[in-house]
Amino acid sequence: MNLPMNPQRTIADLKELRALTSDDNGAQRVAFTPVWAATRKWLRQKLEALPVEIHTDAAGNLWTTLRGESEKALLVGGHMDSVPNGGWLDGCLNVLAGVEILRRMHAQYPVKPPVTIRLVDWADEEGARFGKSLFGSSACSGNLDMNEARGLKDKDGITLPEALKNVGVDFERVKDSGRELKDAAAYLELHIEQGPVLLDLDLPLGAVLGTFGVERHAITFHGQAAHSGSTPMNRRKDAFLAAAKMSPEVYRIAERSRGGVCTIGSCITKPGIVTSVVEECRITLDQRHLDAVALARMLREAKEASEQFAKEGNVKVSWERLWQIAPRPFNEELISLCDEAIRETCGKVHRLPSGPLHDAAEVASTGVPTVMMFVQSLHGISHNKIEDTREEHLEMCVTAFDQLAEKAMHWIAAGGKG
Ligand SMILES: [Zn+2]
Repeated sequence: MNLPMNPQRTIADLKELRALTSDDNGAQRVAFTPVWAATRKWLRQKLEALPVEIHTDAAGNLWTTLRGESEKALLVGGHMDSVPNGGWLDGCLNVLAGVEILRRMHAQYPVKPPVTIRLVDWADEEGARFGKSLFGSSACSGNLDMNEARGLKDKDGITLPEALKNVGVDFERVKDSGRELKDAAAYLELHIEQGPVLLDLDLPLGAVLGTFGVERHAITFHGQAAHSGSTPMNRRKDAFLAAAKMSPEVYRIAERSRGGVCTIGSCITKPGIVTSVVEECRITLDQRHLDAVALARMLREAKEASEQFAKEGNVKVSWERLWQIAPRPFNEELISLCDEAIRETCGKVHRLPSGPLHDAAEVASTGVPTVMMFVQSLHGISHNKIEDTREEHLEMCVTAFDQLAEKAMHWIAAGGKG
């Protein structure tokens, strides 16, 4: 057991933050706003009680460094920003558990810990204002699409570069933040699950295998508009009929994929009137899987099915890719250390993939060994003021996450593995 660490202190910090940055509708720590700036100021005050170096990088990420015997660094990350009307745990639980790790490390290794420990508060993880998630971490990883980001505007017409300028960040230089990863030897992130898997299994904690890859497409079936009264059923080219058959089919595809998910999230018909056979039907398909081969198979099966249904219905089909991201599997050895930390804290271990993306996915993409730990979400819901976790589970997650940090630090000191 690592002593003295105090998970109750993290819960007290979380409650203090909630009182400072929430209203009746939930957390209001939207990135680059005055409440977010006040949040950071509050965080800095907590950190300044420790012998740490604090600075903001070229992308607006806040780094806190506790120097160790080795330059090699264990990174712990999270995000203090929230969506509007957000929950009290999403993002800030990770950071504040990281603060507690720094406190404990300093208490246990008053001269220097064996390796350098760095806490990062990523800027604008949520993308609530400009519609682009993972801003700070994708700038740091180098994956940020500068041309796309340069043109992003909020609802008041303010561009992302303008908003960044207001907080002292030069948009054209944000990728300089990549130098922060120079000595990074491992990255850890704790997060509330945001789904119901651990809740349904009645488990407090889980080790995360990686983040899902995503294939997002628009599928359009092209038929022929015709009068709903005068067109016999066997003469129709009904675009909706073909599209509708995709719905049960994607459930079968997801089931066969063992662990994947498929969603048809939108359906638009044209001409869209009650007296006409549907001429054109556009649906969207979102497919996710942790395994790249399985994800590719899911996509192929959906394409083949769409062609078959089009043929059966005497209509045509076309596909348009909207977005795609590769799966980001986490580091096997760190996943095992995460398992160990969870087992030692609460006895039972479960491994699960993450459907949502996290800053950890950006760090993993750079080759830094990465793992995440999930804590049960009471309603399986995030991005909502009802987001919650049992206090005993919060204590467990801070304790287990700290155990993981200690293990990862020794793993790094012993040579680690990339
Ligand atoms: Zn989050």
